[in-house]
Amino acid sequence: MSDIKIERVFPFGSREINYELYYQDRKTLGIKVYPDCKVRVTAPKNTSDDQLLKKLKEKAPWIIKQQNEFLSYHPLTPPRQYVNGETHLYLGRRYKLKVEPSNNNEVKLYGGRLVVFKKDNYTVESLLNQWYRQKAKHIFQETLINVLPLFHHYQINEPELHIKNMPTRWGSCTPHGKVILNPELIKAPKGSIEYVIIHELCHLVHHNHTKVFYALQEKMMPDWKKWKERLEFILNS
Ligand SMILES: [Zn+2]
Repeated sequence: MSDIKIERVFPFGSREINYELYYQDRKTLGIKVYPDCKVRVTAPKNTSDDQLLKKLKEKAPWIIKQQNEFLSYHPLTPPRQYVNGETHLYLGRRYKLKVEPSNNNEVKLYGGRLVVFKKDNYTVESLLNQWYRQKAKHIFQETLINVLPLFHHYQINEPELHIKNMPTRWGSCTPHGKVILNPELIKAPKGSIEYVIIHELCHLVHHNHTKVFYALQEKMMPDWKKWKERLEFILNS
């Protein structure tokens, strides 16, 4: 890109959309939203301001939606307090926490909220972690079963799945075919969970990170980079 970057602001409703504008030798106008919420517009050289604004207005709801989605992975989350109104991640989405005193301990997702019913003497944190772990167990196993048929040419046995907190990794595997996953992974989108499991299954075929390994991973999940990227945002949140 040998073009000059022009910084602009587009007012939309009560919001402002900041964007970088580039004029290029191209036929159509392109708009991209990046994980850091930056908006980049590439326009054909002869685009008039009117045409540009019309297109931006049309695309503004989509831009905001993308930004909100990326924002939910932003590494700006303060330490968890486990109080009403705080947001918590589950399968790549943020849910507002609601704490309800109750005679039973239970965690439920409903009405777009993560509701923790709790007895006295129990902490929201422990109930929530228990719930995450239970969901992790179930969903990881289900995902493993779903992706396993992709590997049917490679003669790997169905691996034993283990869940273990690991400070610096999402998954690992043993040469004997055990796959170990971090329960925190349940906070990531399903695609990212699939990516980690596929990555580990590829290791059961190639026990390394060589070119053949990556070729296999690419074959099994052509869009793995996107899901890996999303995971990296979660890691920091
Ligand atoms: Zn690996």
